[in-house]
Amino acid sequence: MENDKMEIEAELLRREDERCMRLALAEARLAGEAGEVPIGAVVVADGAVVGRGHNLVETLSDPTAHAEMQAITAATSTLGGKYLADCTLYVTVEPCIMCAGAIGWSQLGRIVWGADDPKKGYRRYTQQVFHPKARVVSGVLKEECEALMHNFFARLRV
Ligand SMILES: [Zn+2]
Repeated sequence: MENDKMEIEAELLRREDERCMRLALAEARLAGEAGEVPIGAVVVADGAVVGRGHNLVETLSDPTAHAEMQAITAATSTLGGKYLADCTLYVTVEPCIMCAGAIGWSQLGRIVWGADDPKKGYRRYTQQVFHPKARVVSGVLKEECEALMHNFFARLRV
């Protein structure tokens, strides 16, 4: 019985992660349509989106305007506090070192991403940047997140 319950909970969490990652993917598509590298993020608290954002580096001519930074700023503004310990950040691609720092500063409780980023991802530099209690999940809707990036860069090369 206890095992069944754990399996059901894991399945419900998996479905919730996929639902929220689809919202992050929708943000990523908005970025792609604007000629930005297609990365999107949402911050979720108790199943509700409290912040969303997509890459705006070209639009704002701002190298710090990554999806995660937009989503974190929006979430703290919505919730009225500087910490996001009870929130989950969903982002379509593994965060870079800058965003990982911001995730650490905001004390996000859970971080979920889709595609790994072996070149620019934070794990190339450090594993110890998030809050010590933060939980990390990778590979959610990985193929869809990767496909968006691949298609974008393939178009650039034509
Ligand atoms: Zn970043």
